[in-house]
Amino acid sequence: MTAKSTIEHYQSVFLGCAIGDALGMPVEGMKPTQIQKYVGRITEFIDPVEVRNDKGALICIDEFGKLGYYNIKLFAGEYTDDTIRTIALAESLIHCKEINLEDIAQRQLAEYTKRLRKDGTVKGGFGGTTIAGFKNLQAGKSYQESGVIGGPGNAPGMMMHPLGLYMDTKQVTEGIEKILQAAIAIGKITHLDPRSLASGVVQAHAIYGILNGNTREDFLSAAEAVCRRFEQPATQEFSLAEQGSLLERLEWTTSHQDVSTEEAHQHLGSGSKVYSSYPFALFMMQKYWDDPVEGLIATVNYGGDCDTTGAIFGALAGARHGLCWPKEWMETVQNGEYLKKLGSKMWEMKRE
Ligand SMILES: [Mg+2]
Repeated sequence: MTAKSTIEHYQSVFLGCAIGDALGMPVEGMKPTQIQKYVGRITEFIDPVEVRNDKGALICIDEFGKLGYYNIKLFAGEYTDDTIRTIALAESLIHCKEINLEDIAQRQLAEYTKRLRKDGTVKGGFGGTTIAGFKNLQAGKSYQESGVIGGPGNAPGMMMHPLGLYMDTKQVTEGIEKILQAAIAIGKITHLDPRSLASGVVQAHAIYGILNGNTREDFLSAAEAVCRRFEQPATQEFSLAEQGSLLERLEWTTSHQDVSTEEAHQHLGSGSKVYSSYPFALFMMQKYWDDPVEGLIATVNYGGDCDTTGAIFGALAGARHGLCWPKEWMETVQNGEYLKKLGSKMWEMKRE
């Protein structure tokens, strides 16, 4: 592998995450057919889509299925929990200059707490498992006992990109292995499902691998190899694992890397279960290996948990291509300048 990353690659991990998140945010949870019907095609930041009847009431089901409104009080260009948790992790790594699990947990909790509304809801589209974990932290549980089994959510995968940058900065002094183990511990702050935890390790390693010159083939085989090592097998406690492993889905992706995006979506799905959204985002990344903007637009328009598939794709593509995004996206995404600054600060850690 040849190291060829620059400060722009670091910056674009954060910008790409936020841009993908913000592109998917307005239609989070919708099916592709619903996006086609109500938007046409997502190609820019728009306000959250609201479908209303003649009396002005929100419609919760149409001929294609349910319509969920996860981000209804956000505005065009704003990002959600994926980027919020990514930023909190990066801020902790920058501040502590090491992996400090207590600090990471408290910073993530603080981001959640400050978005709580008086009516008990929370701004930012935080998932159920994440909220349950944060409630445990709020109740005084330690970061080692706050995580819950909940649903097999994709939070570890969607927020672990800064750990991949950290790995790139510390590969010599701390070693990759120790940092991969830390990805599991960070994931466990909220999630205990073995597939969710594995997605976090795979994502951190994928960012690191791309920064260090991984090819499309390396990218897929490394994802599979890391998942094989870190995904714990199903036990009675983890009964949800009976629905299938993340590894099976990544193996499918490797052996079907050239199928159409349609076929991949049919097989993997793009919903909020980590064994759908995570491998789907990786499939799209390798499929659009040299075409980040088209790839991100295609990913988001497959709907489902598309703020998250967008965030994962965007972070990976940012690591590969640097500041490849349309100028308008980089200038209008929420906190764009600050996101770039986070990338610069992590880059400084590499030089120190
Ligand atoms: Mg989200």
